[in-house]
Amino acid sequence: LWTQVLERLQIQLSRPTFETWIKTAVAEQLDDNCLVIRTPNPFARNWLQKYYIKTIAEVVQEVVGHPIDIHITIAQGDDATTDNPDMFWPLPSQANLSDAPPEPQAVASTSSSNGARSDLNSKYVFSRLVVGSNNRMAHAASLAVAESPGREFNPLFLCGGVGLGKTHLMQAIGHYRLEICSTSRIVYVSTEQFTNDLITAIRKDSRQSFQERYRAVDVLLVDDIQFIEGKEYTQEEFFHTFNTLHETGKQVVLASDRPPNQIPRLQERLCSRFSMGLIADIQPPDLETRMAILQKKAEYENMRLPREVIEYIASSYTNNIRELEGALIRAVAYISISGLPMTVENISPVLNPPVEKVEASPEAVILAIAETFDVSVDDLKGSSRRREISVARQIGMYLMRHHTDLSLPKIGEEFGGKDHTTVMYSCDKIAQLKENDPSMAQTLRQLGDRINHASQTRK
Ligand code: ADP
Ligand code: MG
Repeated sequence: LWTQVLERLQIQLSRPTFETWIKTAVAEQLDDNCLVIRTPNPFARNWLQKYYIKTIAEVVQEVVGHPIDIHITIAQGDDATTDNPDMFWPLPSQANLSDAPPEPQAVASTSSSNGARSDLNSKYVFSRLVVGSNNRMAHAASLAVAESPGREFNPLFLCGGVGLGKTHLMQAIGHYRLEICSTSRIVYVSTEQFTNDLITAIRKDSRQSFQERYRAVDVLLVDDIQFIEGKEYTQEEFFHTFNTLHETGKQVVLASDRPPNQIPRLQERLCSRFSMGLIADIQPPDLETRMAILQKKAEYENMRLPREVIEYIASSYTNNIRELEGALIRAVAYISISGLPMTVENISPVLNPPVEKVEASPEAVILAIAETFDVSVDDLKGSSRRREISVARQIGMYLMRHHTDLSLPKIGEEFGGKDHTTVMYSCDKIAQLKENDPSMAQTLRQLGDRINHASQTRK
């Protein structure tokens, strides 16, 4: 029965939707009264529940002959992002080095009917994107937007650090939209380009053609919108462009390295418009996802790499996928030129891992915590159990563990003589929160940056 359900769903749903949401699910039970679908993670469950339950119910009814109850559950255990414990590599062939990233420049220019150009990089498609817990929501939202632009999430605001795939995702929306509907008018621009176009239009006194270009589109993708900061005139114009599109049900997608409310000198009215759809953030990928990204990249380039090498590179670059890819290419180039075997030892000289953590003093950690959480150093070292203070203290212990060489008992001492088991408990707890709560992960990252920065400038 489930096979029949799947077959029908495959017809009803788009390919990426099916692949992403349905294929990863398992029918745990299917009989006359009840269907239990097991999904790999809570996110998939919510997503199915929210967007596809109706379609599934209809299909099941067709197959079974009458409506039945549908339950969606979550598999026990971890995320199913990378379910291939051992990796297979395609046959070796000469590595394709001419095609070196980090900045792929192959630009496929697609001109749409009204002459609006959409400069999309042909590599930035959904199929080349690895989905992990770090970008699952942004990916799902992007798919949804490509499938039904102007509906659910308008605007879609993608935000995340440099090199985490914002541009890739945005352009994937464009490609996929064109695949679904080839007459769609897609415009992808950087904010800089938008500004330049506007300036040119003013100079040539051709505001109208500017407006035609940007207001007669089905999907407007504007990258690095944080650069609109302080540009009053561009903001003014963009405000009207945005409104025109939004009112006519056209899709707007924006990418930024930070959320709207953290863009300085952004008009309040723009900020509120940017926030009215969905803000989907992209976090740095975890180790498994980084390995999967390298693996995928290697497959595309027809390179064969030992697992240790993948793991080594993946653990050296943690928060910028562009750098991660760059390191892979450098390693492969070096090996092919030197003729050495591909081993961790041989490639390590050409990988210069970015300084990930700077050795910090315990004081620097405590100070960063006190300032960030607005609690006093005395409180951190004291025994208050007030929630804000105890959370700040736990985060402090966790960060001290990461940024210094101090032992658990020594960390305890730094926090006013706490027991080492308390320190251990705090570190575990924060580590767990970091895994499960994106806002905690972000807080830790920001604090880490702050501590790094403070410690670096002191040197
Ligand atoms: P951003 O715009 O956020 O700075 P990009 O979209 O330019 O980042 O991505 C940087 C590089 O990393 C690109 O080559 C992109 O293809 C690659 N990349 C980013 N995210 C992923 C991912 N999830 N899977 C595979 N490759 C990725
Ligand atoms: Mg970008």
